[in-house]
Amino acid sequence: MVFSSACRSLLRHRQIATSYLSCCRRSICTAAPTEERIEAAGYHVSGGPSFMRGTVFWEPDRPLTIEEFHMPRPKAGELLIKTKACGVCHSDLHVLKGELLFSSPCVLGHEITGEVVEHGAHTDVGITKRFPIGSHVVGAFIMPCGNCFFCVKGQEDLCEAFFAYNRAKGTLYDGQTRLFLRNSGKPVYMYSMGGLAEYCVIPANAVATLPNSLPYTESAILGCAVFTAYGAMRHAAEMRAGDSIAVIGVGGIGASCLQIARAFGATEVIAVDVQDEKLHNAMTLGATHTINASRDDVVEKIKEITGGMGVDIAVEALGKPLTFMQCTKAVRDGGKAVIIGLAPTNALGEIELTRLVRRQIKIIGSYGARARQDLPQVVKLAETGIFSLQNTVSRKCRFEEANQVYKDLDDGKIIGRAVIEISE
Ligand SMILES: [Zn+2]
Ligand SMILES: [Zn+2]
Repeated sequence: MVFSSACRSLLRHRQIATSYLSCCRRSICTAAPTEERIEAAGYHVSGGPSFMRGTVFWEPDRPLTIEEFHMPRPKAGELLIKTKACGVCHSDLHVLKGELLFSSPCVLGHEITGEVVEHGAHTDVGITKRFPIGSHVVGAFIMPCGNCFFCVKGQEDLCEAFFAYNRAKGTLYDGQTRLFLRNSGKPVYMYSMGGLAEYCVIPANAVATLPNSLPYTESAILGCAVFTAYGAMRHAAEMRAGDSIAVIGVGGIGASCLQIARAFGATEVIAVDVQDEKLHNAMTLGATHTINASRDDVVEKIKEITGGMGVDIAVEALGKPLTFMQCTKAVRDGGKAVIIGLAPTNALGEIELTRLVRRQIKIIGSYGARARQDLPQVVKLAETGIFSLQNTVSRKCRFEEANQVYKDLDDGKIIGRAVIEISE
């Protein structure tokens, strides 16, 4: 049966009211999650299915499993997306390995493209007009609430609600997940939008329109790898044409930094890694020099390339104490060390304090970018070919291969970025 959204909302209220009535007749109420379960049950996407498949992370070092879920239901200001593709990122791997703590069970995957299939009831008309049913979209992994102190200042990458609810609790901003297992009704948490599923709910503030000229699969990386690289260059490094840059770690995000740096007019672009294959790939993405850190002294080599000065900007994309130190030593006096690699919780980095002070070294952390302002710019760079998606996505795989592809990422076997194709 298919209901209009007004009709569904009425029905939902009646169901909730009934459940509270029967519940309160009992002397002790133990059915707190009932409201959500009833809301999710029996929900159909207009004329479509009432359930979906998604991958579930249960606990560190246990394989992901594919489970059936009730169709997730968007609320006001949210979109239900038929997920087309989801990128495979190191942040998910950190959760899988237990290096970053996150609520579980959960659905990982935070780098998606897809088609809008439903708007939450009472969603603002401005949103429904911008993202009509059937439109192609790309989602940013930082999903700004739009209303907190930082969002109002335009610093959406510091959104309080995103960190307090999504990253800390695995929910959206009403404190609830949109994901419930089909059989048990058990809630499953969401890492960002929970992109490794056939459908996902995402706040409209986190999406940008994807032009039809851009393919779903390759474009998935725009929402994390390219978005993060853009944020690092635009906001943290404030890169200017003519600047020199070194990127330490040229996997998915680091490789995107090379292309974005070229787009901003970098002259010397130095790629640093321990794998020759990644360095070779870096040359096709605009690197002018490469350094294999397993053979050469990174800081010495960077100094040599830059006539003894060091680079204007160095980017650390690995999240390791050693590469953090290399990054801060590789910048010229007054230069900027931009740190974007996620390290295991509580990892510490060292810095030579006297040089920091006297030579005015700037150390700047950067986590992502600003979804509403930056994601449309990132899409434009890809649309015009200034950023090449084809050269960045090195592997495409199926939904069922998720475990293998994360293992390959962990083993360093993925040269650029892998993308999981979820539906046609
Ligand atoms: Zn990511
Ligand atoms: Zn916010």
